[in-house]
Amino acid sequence: MKRILITGALGQIGSELTLKLREIYGADQVIATDIKKNDSEAVVGGPFETVDVMDVNKLMEIAKKYKIDTIMHLAALLSATAEANPIFAWKLNMGGLMNALETARELKAQFFTPSSIGAFGPSTPKIHTPQDTIMRPTTMYGVNKVAGELLADYYYYKFGVDTRGIRFPGLISNVALPGGGTTDYAVEIYYEAVKNGKYTSYIAEGTYMDMMYMPDALRAIIDLMEADATKLKHRNSFNVTAMSIAPEDIAASIAKLVPRFELNYKVDPARQRIADSWPDSIDASAASEEWGFEYEYDLDKMTKDMIEKLRERL
Ligand code: NAD
Repeated sequence: MKRILITGALGQIGSELTLKLREIYGADQVIATDIKKNDSEAVVGGPFETVDVMDVNKLMEIAKKYKIDTIMHLAALLSATAEANPIFAWKLNMGGLMNALETARELKAQFFTPSSIGAFGPSTPKIHTPQDTIMRPTTMYGVNKVAGELLADYYYYKFGVDTRGIRFPGLISNVALPGGGTTDYAVEIYYEAVKNGKYTSYIAEGTYMDMMYMPDALRAIIDLMEADATKLKHRNSFNVTAMSIAPEDIAASIAKLVPRFELNYKVDPARQRIADSWPDSIDASAASEEWGFEYEYDLDKMTKDMIEKLRERL
């Protein structure tokens, strides 16, 4: 990776990934793009271009202008938003991906795009969900993610594009707010804990989902992209996880630092249905074996960092 173009760079992952990549590879080597204007100054210190990933000509033009050799395609509609607008989700998630893959093919660029635990469905084994298993998701987001994994693999086999991907669990961060996913509660709970000492969860007690702290997710992306290609048996996409947790687990962890923290429930049936169709805990051993995936933050270490950072800021 020498000159990297990021789509969806103003989102939850992109705004931190852009800064991290600029630290490592140099500010001018990382070209941040998004459909939104960069008026929040979220992504600073290097090139930014407004690009709609549905516009393949513009995407190619910008990629050529900066002579990029790597694309990190993050622009997408997330699970809850996609379920509310499934037809548009198909157009953006599949059309945008195809345009980004075509740009990578044209420029012979390396390619990364995230998949998700949403690629699994109700018939997938729920505990220690294997790397290779049944994938029959019942959400539009999941359908897009499975199709996207297959399409990215196809570009590798058919056209030799060096495509790589990670099935992210819910990502927790104290920088950018999440963009309409099912696991957003696990970010909101920390903000509300610091601001008000209580939180009402839209996900029911006892609902286990995998999660990961953003610094571990960013490191995973970079480690996978830098990994020796000859070691990769899989490409799109690798299971990763750092913790399998339910709302009450996060509440118990928060209560160690915010005494009298109170967790209530008002379940949102739409997002609960999505959560119920996802695994409880996934097996990340293929990622560990093939490119050395490991995580640093468990629940309590993440909670300590989240609370400290949010207390400073809020
Ligand atoms: P996000 O919603 O926070 O950000 C997406 C960004 O894409 C936004 O800045 C948005 O403005 C931009 N965008 C939307 N439409 C666009 C278009 N037509 N052209 C260009 N940009 C456009 O999403 P995120 O959480 O950063 O997720 C990035 C990727 O990671 C997605 O593929 C998502 O499915 C995947 N993922 C995220 C999580 C998570 O917990 N955040 C978990 C698993 C997978």
